[in-house]
Amino acid sequence: MVRPSARIASSFIGAALTLAVGGAGWMAVRTLDGATERVEHTVLVLDGFQNLFEYVLDSESSQRGYLLTGEERYLAPYRRGIARARTAYSDLRRLTSDNASQQARLDTISTALDAKRAELDSTIALRFRGDVTGAIGLVRSDEGLRATMTIRRMLAAAQGDEQGLLARRADARDRARLMVILIIVPGALAACLLTFAAMRREQRDLDYQRATNEQLEEQSMQLQDQAGELEVQASELEGQVNDSRALAAELDRTNVNLATALEDSERSRRAAEVAENHLSRLIEQAPVAIAITRGPNFVVEAANPRFHDVVGKRELVSRPMRDAVPEIVEQGLLDALQSTYHSGTAIVKDELAVDFARGENGTPRGGVFDFVYQPLRDEQEVVYGVAIVATEVTEKVQERRAIDLLRVAADEASRAKSEFIASMSHELRTPLNAIIGYESLLRQGFVGDTTPQQNAFLERIRTSADHLLGLIEDVLSLSRIEAGQVDVRWSIVDAHEALKDAAGMVEPAATAKRLDLVVEPVEEPIILVTDRQRLGQCLINLTNNAVKYTDVGQVRLRARLDEDDVVFDIADSGIGISSDHITKIFDAFWQVEQSTTRRVGGAGLGLNVTRRLAGLLGGRVAAQSTAGVGSTFSLRLPRKRTET
Ligand code: ADP
Repeated sequence: MVRPSARIASSFIGAALTLAVGGAGWMAVRTLDGATERVEHTVLVLDGFQNLFEYVLDSESSQRGYLLTGEERYLAPYRRGIARARTAYSDLRRLTSDNASQQARLDTISTALDAKRAELDSTIALRFRGDVTGAIGLVRSDEGLRATMTIRRMLAAAQGDEQGLLARRADARDRARLMVILIIVPGALAACLLTFAAMRREQRDLDYQRATNEQLEEQSMQLQDQAGELEVQASELEGQVNDSRALAAELDRTNVNLATALEDSERSRRAAEVAENHLSRLIEQAPVAIAITRGPNFVVEAANPRFHDVVGKRELVSRPMRDAVPEIVEQGLLDALQSTYHSGTAIVKDELAVDFARGENGTPRGGVFDFVYQPLRDEQEVVYGVAIVATEVTEKVQERRAIDLLRVAADEASRAKSEFIASMSHELRTPLNAIIGYESLLRQGFVGDTTPQQNAFLERIRTSADHLLGLIEDVLSLSRIEAGQVDVRWSIVDAHEALKDAAGMVEPAATAKRLDLVVEPVEEPIILVTDRQRLGQCLINLTNNAVKYTDVGQVRLRARLDEDDVVFDIADSGIGISSDHITKIFDAFWQVEQSTTRRVGGAGLGLNVTRRLAGLLGGRVAAQSTAGVGSTFSLRLPRKRTET
């Protein structure tokens, strides 16, 4: 880069040079202007002299034309020439005012011009008056010619002077022009060179400035980056300051919390103490035996009084379990302790028979115990010992065993009872069938005619025998069901047909009592899969009861579909059952205590048998009744076979 002092010096030199060239140029141009002006002035003067002479000649030729022709039109150029010659004369006077010799010549020319004018005017006036001869005479007097000659001579002299002047002035102008060229061209060249040098210098300066700017820009960017980093550091610092403030606040809070926590922990410690006391008391007073052992040798750390009772009076605390209670080794208890300790999982052993030396003088005495071996873990979850919890269940087990024995005996007795009832029923049925058979033979007159009284007795025999037979059937069914001896034979059954069959069986009794026994028709057959015989038995029982407990009115039988069930409704207008009794009627051997029941007889087994059979078929039976109005018994069975 150019130093500032050199720059100022060079700028000064440039300015001075430019000023000098400019000043010289201006002066030269001014000189050239003056020279050119003077040349033009001389040319003007020369032209003026020439014009003046020509105007004189024009006037003269115009006068001659008029003289010859006498025509007015020739006078116009004459007058014009005279006027112009005057004007040209005046101009020349003015133009040559600084030239004394020319002024003197113009004086002479003026006189000659006046003379010429006078001669012309006179001739024209003569001609105008028609005096052609006078006019020509005047022309011949050569007065006009002399004047013209004077003018010509003066003009030539003046023009000669002017020509010389012109030549000199042209020389001066050419010199001034040369001077201008000499000053302006090198000056312009110098200016161009200076400008070029200045531009070069400027360019270098610009390049330098640009480089400097770029450098500056780079530095500024770096500075900006540094500023950014500093800003980040500042904000980090600020954050740290804030964090430390927050930390301080947090510490304050923590202090407060710590104080509270200390109070809490004191409270908790007291509560823990209380809880520990409770726990210790609980363990002390617990009806179960508890012992705490530590380490792989199961050194007893604590044992409650009940534990002492269980194992017999002996020294336990601080002794390994196998030394304190050696009998546990053979009976597998030590194994259980070890597996609990090593596996870390609790072991439960129920109803284990163990002999502990707890009799008189340490003699073995057996007992049955539920054992729990619970691993004990420290804060790091490492097993450090095992707690033994033993609950003696000797009495409970003995009681259960006694009950089991009783149940077996009861089952046996029940089976024997069922067998007895079955064989007894068979034994009873055989003579009863004989009684009925013989009654029938007597009534049919196989042994001769019978009297009306005998017939009445025979009727009583038949009714009692039928009743007894029904009773035996019921007892037999019940015992078979109880003994689980009833097989179910599944088949397809038409519900309506089943109702009609049952009605047919009971019809004689209904007719005897003048009751309407109605089987309601069905729109479409209702089919179900069930045991035909057991269903018939249930329907006969229910219909029979309906007839039995109805004196007036009707008994209606109906089959209907209810979703996946078939329901058989047996409705009567009989004596009904009070709400107190209706819950009991399905119990075995239960009968409503009333005169009708007594009168119609029965053992109170029919409904119980019906309920059990319905259960076997996967259904149930229910009763709805109003005392004195009537009852409806509904037997509900699934349409499809169900496993029971
Ligand atoms: P029972 O042989 O006595 O009829 P059941 O088991 O068949 O035995 O009936 C039990 C009792 O339920 C009957 O004694 C009777 O009191 C009552 N009972 C049963 N069916 C009817 C009915 N349709 N109307 C009124 N009472 C009835």
